[in-house]
Amino acid sequence: MLQTKGYAVEAANAKFKNFDFERRDVGANDILIEIEFCGVCHSDIHQARNEWGNSIFPMVPGHEIVGRVKQIGEAVSKFKEGDYAGVGCFVDSCGTCETCQADVEQFCQVHCAQTYNSTEMDEKTPTYGGYSTQIVVKEDYALKITDTENLAAIAPLLCAGITTYSPLRKFKVGEGSKVGIVGLGGLGHMGVKFAVSMGADVTVFSTSPSKEADAKKLGAHHFVVSKNEEEMKALGGQFDFILDCVSAEHDLNAYLNLLRLDGTMCLVGVPEKPAPVHAFSLIQNNRSLAGSGIGGIKDTQEMLDYCAEKGITSDIEMINIQDIENAYERTIKGDVRYRFVIDIASLKNA
Ligand code: NAP
Ligand code: ZN
Repeated sequence: MLQTKGYAVEAANAKFKNFDFERRDVGANDILIEIEFCGVCHSDIHQARNEWGNSIFPMVPGHEIVGRVKQIGEAVSKFKEGDYAGVGCFVDSCGTCETCQADVEQFCQVHCAQTYNSTEMDEKTPTYGGYSTQIVVKEDYALKITDTENLAAIAPLLCAGITTYSPLRKFKVGEGSKVGIVGLGGLGHMGVKFAVSMGADVTVFSTSPSKEADAKKLGAHHFVVSKNEEEMKALGGQFDFILDCVSAEHDLNAYLNLLRLDGTMCLVGVPEKPAPVHAFSLIQNNRSLAGSGIGGIKDTQEMLDYCAEKGITSDIEMINIQDIENAYERTIKGDVRYRFVIDIASLKNA
């Protein structure tokens, strides 16, 4: 077993502290990644605080993992020692069910072993995430990272990147699409970058007027303060596609009303409480309300390769792991430009 340093919470209302644990030895199909950076996703906060009611403690969060391959198993072919690799939101699945075969392993019908707050395929051994010094993962569930220039800014692509890239592709956003991105946080700012890169006309809907200049710098064409009811009304029936990246309670109907004929609004944000939807918000203009969950390994690799080609990374603020509580508080307040990334050296040296 491999002795590993981590940072964990022991209960929903507990503070983070050092947590030593063991990773499995490197098996034939495994790689060992020495973690260099890990992004801080709002899902880490929801789960560390048990806001979704499914938390397993002690919890070592983190599913935006990048680092270097330190050791490979004898059957590994995709990686060699010294390569850069990433791990996203899950580390294993059955590989043979209908959804795994359709390359959406995140919905595995047997069991999707999520990177943390979950169990391995035995449904007993807890999984621990990227707020740690190293991880052992099957090579098929690790991603190849070729653009290594700014590794820390690539980490958030493993969740925030794929979660926004995947629905934009699925709903065929492209040249001429009129797209709205709701909530300019970690997911939202990646959504803006991708939608702009795909040729869409992009409007950011935000509760934070102070983010207007940033939105424009990210490439957005328009910026709307969502609290401004008149401005919202004036935009009724205009959008082809809206991606809702909001982490807290808000009115979905106000955004559904902005969709034109056959338009779709896709939820990726997961607020703690369910939101009411009025049937008329959907009936008018034959609208659709959809959802999208991260993305499979194939799509995640496609997204990373697309980012490498287009020079797309995340806008980040680097922190030491000891600053994690403060980073959570600032994320909840919407005060992050636009993703915190943990420098794992701060944990190694702790
Ligand atoms: P984040 O960085 O905290 O961004 C969320 C944004 O939502 C904030 O920046 C803020 O943007 C807006 N917001 C916050 N509180 C709000 C409120 N009370 N009313 C209206 N808007 C508010 O979070 P994230 O990491 O991007 O994650 C966003 C959500 O997606 C989380 O719920 C997370 O769990 C979920 N998620 C889902 C998936 C998936 O597979 N579907 C994957 C990853 C994450 P403005 O300041 O611009 O208003
Ligand atoms: Zn995430």
